[in-house]
Amino acid sequence: MKNINSLRVFKRNENEPNPEGEFVLYWMQINRRLHYNFALEYAVAWANKLGKPLLVFEALSCDYPWRTARTHWFIMQGMAEHQEIAEKEGFNYYSFLEEEAGEYPALFRELAAKSCLVVTDEYPIFIMRKRNESIPQTLDVPYYSIDSNGIIPMKMTDKAPYSAYIFRKTMQKQFRHCFEHPPKENPLADLQNRDMVQLGESVTQKYPDAKTAGRFSKEWLAGIDVDQSVKPLAIEGTRKAGLERTTQFLEFDLKAYDEERNDPDTEGTSRLSPWLHFGKISEHELVDHALRRQPRDWSRDTLKPQNGKRDGFFGGETGIEAWLDELITWREVGFHFAHHTPNYDQFESLPDWAQETLTEHEADPRPVVYTYEQLANAETEDDIWNAAQRQLVREGRIHNYLRMLWGKKVLQWTPDARTALDYLIRLNNIYAIDGRDPNSYSGIFWIFGRFDRAWGPERKIFGKVRYMTSDSTRKKVKIKEYLKKYARF
Ligand SMILES: Cc1cc2nc3c(=O)[nH]c(=O)nc-3n(C[C@H](O)[C@H](O)[C@H](O)COP(=O)(O)OP(=O)(O)OC[C@H]3O[C@@H](n4cnc5c(N)ncnc54)[C@H](O)[C@@H]3O)c2cc1C
Repeated sequence: MKNINSLRVFKRNENEPNPEGEFVLYWMQINRRLHYNFALEYAVAWANKLGKPLLVFEALSCDYPWRTARTHWFIMQGMAEHQEIAEKEGFNYYSFLEEEAGEYPALFRELAAKSCLVVTDEYPIFIMRKRNESIPQTLDVPYYSIDSNGIIPMKMTDKAPYSAYIFRKTMQKQFRHCFEHPPKENPLADLQNRDMVQLGESVTQKYPDAKTAGRFSKEWLAGIDVDQSVKPLAIEGTRKAGLERTTQFLEFDLKAYDEERNDPDTEGTSRLSPWLHFGKISEHELVDHALRRQPRDWSRDTLKPQNGKRDGFFGGETGIEAWLDELITWREVGFHFAHHTPNYDQFESLPDWAQETLTEHEADPRPVVYTYEQLANAETEDDIWNAAQRQLVREGRIHNYLRMLWGKKVLQWTPDARTALDYLIRLNNIYAIDGRDPNSYSGIFWIFGRFDRAWGPERKIFGKVRYMTSDSTRKKVKIKEYLKKYARF
């Protein structure tokens, strides 16, 4: 059978490798890791085939949408970690922190011109999607984007999955085959040509690397044009920190995940989404770790597709089964949906029934209408909502269960669904450290009916879209301590 991982390769232009090129360029855009990374593995394979060295290029622009000191610092910490590893292990790594818009693309062009070919990360949304669509046509060398996002390659589905149930059916059929073709743990170990790349002063003086320029610091960050009111977090953007959180979760919370994940007081979820978002850890390695904790008599031979039903596929421990469904089905359905849906961030990408019912109820009077600023400042009449918003501002995240309620209330408190979408996308992508992710759009658009079905009875404002209230949340989950903890900013 054809290697499943060939489905991860997106050949973005028809150029031939430049035989005069000095190196193969791996442009690390979003899966910012040196391990379990199919794109890096592919770049190493090309370097070996051409007998050339490899240059890993990682950078950060200063003009991306919703930029904040919070996201900047998280990414910078990960880059500083890579810089240290590169110095210790002796591979070619160039980090660049942009000070003026335009420097980063100009540097990329210079590096691409010196290269034999470019390999980068495939990603279905945000600036990476746009770059991967437009840049290859402007280069003279080949440009490959590689899908290292999840277990099921995005090319494996032929259209946007309508629901998690439909995607789960595909996942259950394909999981074993895909999982048994994992990325290599340390692809750089296979690199043959270890020559040091000399970029020359025209590059290094004009675009000094982040360390030489002394930019890996909070002082430097304070002078950059990003939203400085959204502060850096206590958690670190390094792979090391992501792996530590992984171990804590697997050791202490995984088995009870199914019972405890909905209680804000318990904090029973992994809190790994920030590291997953920036690609610091790979889904493959997390799934592998979780499956190793199945009971002794469990084996992959027991995996039997359940026709889209969650229970019974992974089997074994209920906590492991529940967590893997979130990590694989719910995480990846968003990647596949966005991959097949260029307007993934627009009202028009909602299912027809949802667009119709929300439009029919557009004129319904709202009990109260809040401005974007009132929402951002947690100035509503609802104590649960305000607590969730304060958690978002303080910690860059909201407990998963409350994140649903948080979204539903904004639909109720804004003049129409399009305004609600606009506010939610802004709040989420500015404050949430895991924002600007395919899952940001899965979660936000789920509020409006994506991946869901029509519900009855039909209600004011929501129409047939699923409804949630703070009162029922208060009855359903343990939230007393949470409300105390986030009573103020
Ligand atoms: C309005 C709204 C906005 C959201 N915005 C984001 C976002 O910006 N970024 C983001 O990563 N997730 C988002 N989600 C999905 C979900 O809330 C988070 O992934 C989850 O809370 C992260 O916490 P955790 O890492 O502890 O998850 P765990 O429960 O430990 O799950 C493990 C991983 O599975 C994935 N996952 C879990 N639940 C979901 C879900 N419902 N949908 C998609 N993937 C899931 C995530 O990658 C998560 O890290 C949003 C949900 C809603 C309702």
